[in-house]
Amino acid sequence: MNCNIAVIKGDGIGPEVVTEAMKVLDAVGKKFGHTFNYEQLLMGGCSIDKYGDPLTDETVAIAKSKDAVLLGSIGGNTQTSPWYKLPPNKRPEAGLLKIRKELGLFANLRPAYLYPELKEACPLKESVAERGFDMMIMRELTGGLYFGERYTKEIDGVMTAVDTLTYNENEIRRIAVKGFDIAMKRRKKVTLVDKANVLDSSRLWRKVTEEVAKDYPEVEYETMLVDNAAMQLVKDPAQFDVMLTENMFGDILSDEASMITGSIGMLSSASLNETKFGLYEPSGGSAPDIAGQNIANPIATILSAAMMLRYTFDLDKEADAIENAVKKVLEEGYRTIDIAKPGEPQVKCDEMGSLIAERI
Ligand code: NAD
Repeated sequence: MNCNIAVIKGDGIGPEVVTEAMKVLDAVGKKFGHTFNYEQLLMGGCSIDKYGDPLTDETVAIAKSKDAVLLGSIGGNTQTSPWYKLPPNKRPEAGLLKIRKELGLFANLRPAYLYPELKEACPLKESVAERGFDMMIMRELTGGLYFGERYTKEIDGVMTAVDTLTYNENEIRRIAVKGFDIAMKRRKKVTLVDKANVLDSSRLWRKVTEEVAKDYPEVEYETMLVDNAAMQLVKDPAQFDVMLTENMFGDILSDEASMITGSIGMLSSASLNETKFGLYEPSGGSAPDIAGQNIANPIATILSAAMMLRYTFDLDKEADAIENAVKKVLEEGYRTIDIAKPGEPQVKCDEMGSLIAERI
């Protein structure tokens, strides 16, 4: 297969970790007979430095013409970098918001997986961590409370703030379909998380998702109230496969799920639109505190590349090969600085990339 990928290495540790993900993709290409064509683009601080703009329209047009975007991370030290003296719409993060909007990325996927070798980093009780977990949080990204009408004004002499939570059935249906499609590639279970005992919007989510579920008889479907879901995530995370939810609930629950895995350097993510197109990036930021030292953990970005193979290119076998190679290096005891226990030997970013590439 010929795969055309826009590569945005970005700022901070972005160039270091993306280089390793490309190394691993090339090993996959060699083994399975695929060609990965990369076009490197600028976004974030490096684009401000070159063009005075965190994301140019030309860059967006090139990204749109590709099958997928592989992104490192953008931004610098928010206290000291001159990028943060610019107006908000000219700062590095404005590039990220613009690309998500321009590409119509409405579905955010964040897997939370506990590697047995790293279970000591899991802050949950040993009896819970022992059972492991492997879930995918699927968060709606372009609707709901964060995008509704809002204002603050004085009403009858009292300052009053209003935020509006709106969803229509089309916005719900398109992400529910994605959620069930993804469940079909996993353990075939979807949990819709909502607040249907209170919110009209949640009741519409239930109605539409129930209709979609009928088209997927193989998938087990359940609903759960968001307050209970927050508790269940720390009590029994092993019960979840795909957790489907709206924007704000997903924002909060996906951070909770990340936390219980214990390491930011291991967490991949994807944002998808209605087609097979996706933007794949690590969940963490540009880590300016460790940039340029070749010590960042590249695994989150490498696993994001695996998600790209699975969800954009339908190359499931190849995605499995990457995920298994990551498991293997961890089993063999290799650790980067963020996941090493005190006294344990550490490998550099580029060594970790090579070790994984060799095990494809
Ligand atoms: P961060 O995720 O960059 O760093 C938090 C901590 O985690 C730091 O100690 C860092 O060293 C560590 N860390 C993160 N990724 C790591 C990795 N792969 N290996 C080892 N250690 C890792 O969060 P922050 O410090 O709050 O933000 C730094 C910059 O990143 C800011 O400019 C912020 O706006 C930006 N940011 C960008 C994105 C993105 O591009 N999507 C996301 C979040 C933050």
